[in-house]
Amino acid sequence: MKRNVPITETTLPELQAELLGELPAELQANLPTSLQPIAPASADTTGQSFSELPLSPAMLANLTQLEYLTMTPIQAASLPIALAGHDLIAQAKTGSGKTAAFALTLLTNLNPRSFAVQAMVLCPTRELADQVTQEIRRLARFEDNIKILSLVGGSTLRNQASSLEHGAHIVVGTPGRLMDHMQRENLKLDELNTLVLDEADRMLDMGFHDDIAFIAKRCPAKRQTLLFSATYPEGIAQLAKQFLKNPQEVKLLEQHAENKIRQRFYEVTNENRLTAVATLLKHYRPLSTLAFCNTKQQCRDLLNVLRENGIQALTLNGDLEQRERDQVLIQFANNSCSVLVATDVAARGLDIAQLEAVINVDVTPDPEIHIHRIGRTGRADQQGWALSLYSPADKRRLATIAQMMGTTLETHKLSELPEADEAPLVPPMVTLLMLGGRKDKIRPGDVLGALTGEAGFTSKQVGKITVTDQTTFIAVDRNIYRDAVRKLSAGKVKGKTVKVRAL
Ligand code: ADP
Ligand code: MG
Repeated sequence: MKRNVPITETTLPELQAELLGELPAELQANLPTSLQPIAPASADTTGQSFSELPLSPAMLANLTQLEYLTMTPIQAASLPIALAGHDLIAQAKTGSGKTAAFALTLLTNLNPRSFAVQAMVLCPTRELADQVTQEIRRLARFEDNIKILSLVGGSTLRNQASSLEHGAHIVVGTPGRLMDHMQRENLKLDELNTLVLDEADRMLDMGFHDDIAFIAKRCPAKRQTLLFSATYPEGIAQLAKQFLKNPQEVKLLEQHAENKIRQRFYEVTNENRLTAVATLLKHYRPLSTLAFCNTKQQCRDLLNVLRENGIQALTLNGDLEQRERDQVLIQFANNSCSVLVATDVAARGLDIAQLEAVINVDVTPDPEIHIHRIGRTGRADQQGWALSLYSPADKRRLATIAQMMGTTLETHKLSELPEADEAPLVPPMVTLLMLGGRKDKIRPGDVLGALTGEAGFTSKQVGKITVTDQTTFIAVDRNIYRDAVRKLSAGKVKGKTVKVRAL
């Protein structure tokens, strides 16, 4: 998307040229240079091979087996620095392969024969800590006996303490839980050589600053510290100053694949901004949309307006408990909710594979955040819409975005959209909530079996089945969901009667 964006007759380059001239000098000067990508992430870049790095033959063989054939751009930029032992600040978007960048480093620093904790990774949430643990396990497969422990809520402190007693090389966890173990002296860090702060931006948002400080201060002074983040808010620099030594910085500004993201800007007034979102949704009809607002209040207001328009929308905000957050994400990912409304903070770390549209309900003042937002659509070989609403007061922000993206922006008027009352936008699926989950040994196949067996549905009418500890979420075709609830409640899953309701 860097250049060669198709320009239509509605493009207003003159307007932009005029606006660019208005940009204050310090903004102009600050803009592009500090954010130049170190390695271009475009598709025509031939990735570098891992074999150029000082990695052991066994490690390289395992990477090949995992089909990690070339480094991702953030890996190519950060691994030479990290493997040379430097402290590092690395910034790149979600899904860019940051985990392997630090995992290969900490595994290289590791002595498998010493049964002491040598590396510790701090993650903001349980789900992220679990993902990181899995990824390190895969990357550590070249050695038989590397022990990696995940220390998060959900398992008792006592169980984790006894696992620690048996020895672990690497621990991954949330700051609170790690701190608990340190205070109880379950977790000894004398041999620690690598400390990783993963998703540091989100940890700061979640108020973990003091916990991180507590932990970092108790790590050996002679260590390597690696900080990873998807964005670079002010707090990150301060955190780095406190806990990293002469860190080298690697920033990868996103460059979106050309033409994958079709970007349009619609002019609105502050009065019609929220109803405009409903109008756009009914016109473009995306299967799933992430709508960004600049404030929590705007999220709440938009949710109400969308619901008044019969659009199934949910919101993510920092006040949700982990369980509620999971539930929202499950409904969104299985296509029973059309729109997820969120602030940038709430959307951090989210990696949603199929997103047909991103709507910027408010234009963000930070052009880098704008690019990050719209990069969530148009993934893989799919096209995506990036629709942004701007009012006359936002024009300076638009100019900054255009300048950073090195393109002209396509502006439109809402009145261009056909007036006709368009059909309501209805998601294709409904989520059923069934009591019973992993703890009851329920597997997706059991549920699918119950629905396609005695209940008589086709497998096409059943969508994603997500089993959590205590509950199971089942996406079913909207046309049959009442029937599905009735038949599941009347029948059995794994030989037992179950409680089911639609969400
Ligand atoms: P991030 O932490 O930047 O959000 P992850 O580390 O979770 O991203 O990686 C995203 C996905 O890319 C994972 O599924 C991971 O297995 C995969 N991946 C990482 N590095 C490579 C590589 N070099 N080649 C192929 N796949 C990779
Ligand atoms: Mg990550």
